[in-house]
This record gives sequence, C-alpha cells and structure tokens, in this order.
Amino acid sequence: MTEKTLVILKPDCMEKKLAGTVLARFEAADLEVKACKMIRMTDPVLREHYAHLIDKPFFGFLSNYMKRNPVIVLVLEGENAIATTRKILGPTKSADAPAGTIRGDFGDKEIVTFNICHASDSPESATAEISRFFKPEEVF
Ligand code: UDP
Ligand code: MG
Repeated sequence: MTEKTLVILKPDCMEKKLAGTVLARFEAADLEVKACKMIRMTDPVLREHYAHLIDKPFFGFLSNYMKRNPVIVLVLEGENAIATTRKILGPTKSADAPAGTIRGDFGDKEIVTFNICHASDSPESATAEISRFFKPEEVF
C-alpha cells in the first residue's frame, strides 16, 4: 500500500549536520520526497504536535529543544511508508535503538529527548501531521 508519512529532522539532526545522511537512508529504502520545508517550531504548533505529551514533566524540555534551532519537515511517500520509516528510525529511546537505525547510530544515548528525527506513527497521525505542516498544494 502506497502511503505518505511526515518526517521532521529535529534540531539535533541539523546541528550535527546529519540532514543529508538521514534523508539518504530514507531514500535508500525507496521512500520519495513529496514535500519539504525548513521552519522554526513554535509553542502553538508543538502543543498540537505533541498533544499526547502535554501533561508529561518533560514537555517543557521537549518544547525548548524543538524550538532551539530550525528543523526540516518532509513528506515521504512509498510502500508502507509509515512502518518503513519508523523501522529505519528505531525506537524512541536511542539507547534501546539497534545499530544501523538512525536513532541507534546518531541519537543521544543519555538524553531520550534528543533523538534526531520524528516520523508519524499511524495513518491517522500521518494525515493530521501532514496537514499541520503543509498546504495541499505544497505536497507534490
Ligand atoms: N520524549 C522524551 N522523553 C520521553 C519520551 C519522549 O523527551 O520519555 C520526546 C522524544 O523526543 C520523542 C518525543 O518526545 O521523540 C515524542 O514522543 P513519542 O512517544 O511520540 O515518541 P516518537 O513517536 O518520537 O518515537
Ligand atoms: Mg510519536
């Protein structure tokens, strides 16, 4: 099934100059870029995007991290794009992520928050997240 998913190259990815490396891994898995922009995150967008975490004690720390430098937001398309992207990315905690995954290779092993990249986790969240960041005419 051909799907679209939303990926965010987070501030630590940009600071470590890993944007090209990370995108190359997705492209090597036959995922195609359908939309792309660089933005700085804001509190209203982060409260929406991380609504499921808003009551967690780390929410403020997560928000400050996501705002500290611009990010690249991407729509990727391919066969089972949502699951494929999450598999290449690895689990949320980089310390638990196997070598060869993006988080396993590049994420911070001590600080869970700093895990390089976001990817949608379901068809419902992919649809909501794509429309959060892109107008329909910006997705090719
Ligand atoms: N996060 C964190 N501490 C936690 C869990 C999550 O700082 O204990 C951050 C981390 O950056 C993660 C983001 O919050 O990527 C969103 O959490 P989610 O559970 O949705 O994980 P993801 O879908 O990114 O793997
Ligand atoms: Mg998530």
